[in-house]
Amino acid sequence: MRSHLKHNLKAWLRLGYARFLFYTGLHALVSRCMPARLTILAGHCVSAPSNAFLPDDMKIDAAHLEGLLDWLGKRYEWVTVGDGWRRLRAGEGGSTVALSMDDGYRDNLELLLPLLKKRGLTATVYLESRPLCERRLNWTHLYFWILERRSPAQFVENYAAQSADSKATAALQQALRAGSRLTYQLKRVLKYEADQADCTRTLRAIFAELGGDEALFCDGLYLDWDGARALQEGGLELGAHTVNHWVLSGLPLAEQERELQMGRLAMERELGRAPISFAYPFGRRWDWNADSLLALESAGFENATSTHAGCNLAGSDPRKLARIMIDRSASLPLIVAEACGGFELLRRLGLDLSE
Ligand SMILES: [Zn+2]
Repeated sequence: MRSHLKHNLKAWLRLGYARFLFYTGLHALVSRCMPARLTILAGHCVSAPSNAFLPDDMKIDAAHLEGLLDWLGKRYEWVTVGDGWRRLRAGEGGSTVALSMDDGYRDNLELLLPLLKKRGLTATVYLESRPLCERRLNWTHLYFWILERRSPAQFVENYAAQSADSKATAALQQALRAGSRLTYQLKRVLKYEADQADCTRTLRAIFAELGGDEALFCDGLYLDWDGARALQEGGLELGAHTVNHWVLSGLPLAEQERELQMGRLAMERELGRAPISFAYPFGRRWDWNADSLLALESAGFENATSTHAGCNLAGSDPRKLARIMIDRSASLPLIVAEACGGFELLRRLGLDLSE
């Protein structure tokens, strides 16, 4: 309870400070005083009928995104993550902003690319290779699709009948008994307590039982290689996001290396160039570990991004670049407070309001 209160107080202070900088115009002065920065925004989908079943925190409406692009574009140069990081590290130019979108959804081609083209802007799209190579989806999409058709209790019953992972089944049953925020809690159990290969198999079996057609589902939701090539030809950077989108910290080193290397090789083969940028699946600090950093190095990536908000400076660790998540509730003042170096300034003054 206490940590919950502390978290809420911090979020309230963050927003209050961000609004103060934004509405007084002080963000411009802070931006001039702080060292050069690379601010990276991170989203998934531009809202479209094809992604309507996904949770709201994975989507941003086109008009909202255009507002962010235009406001930030008047003050900073838009770059890709890979170029932005190279320039920052080399001390070339001033502060920049980058837009990144994870996973490789179709709307990135159909809705995002035209928005960017109209403005002459670029972005980085991180691709999981399995949907592109095999028209197979990572289990989270099957999960959200099933939960639109089955109650949480029915889902757990179906899972127990199909899965060989008794530990995960018991944890799901326990979460069901606890009974709050079930869609989120059951997903959390699958993410952190289930064997990922078994979870994928099980959800695939339930999905098929309910009449789902995975290739068709994948075609509607995800890019194919032609679509990825069209993004590349449109000037976007394509970064890597593993093969299967599993939580890396739950895998042994050899499997992590395979996830990173195979994803990178598939992209090199299909796109004619190897990606230099990588995004950790799910992206929280606990979703990767020391082995992931080794795998990153052996696969040959230049930078890797998380989903923790923050300010990237020339001295930042390129294996842990910060990104600000943007979705339907994305707040321009909060983004501006990060982009102008406002939270970094506070940190230097001894007050850490970072996320
Ligand atoms: Zn992802």
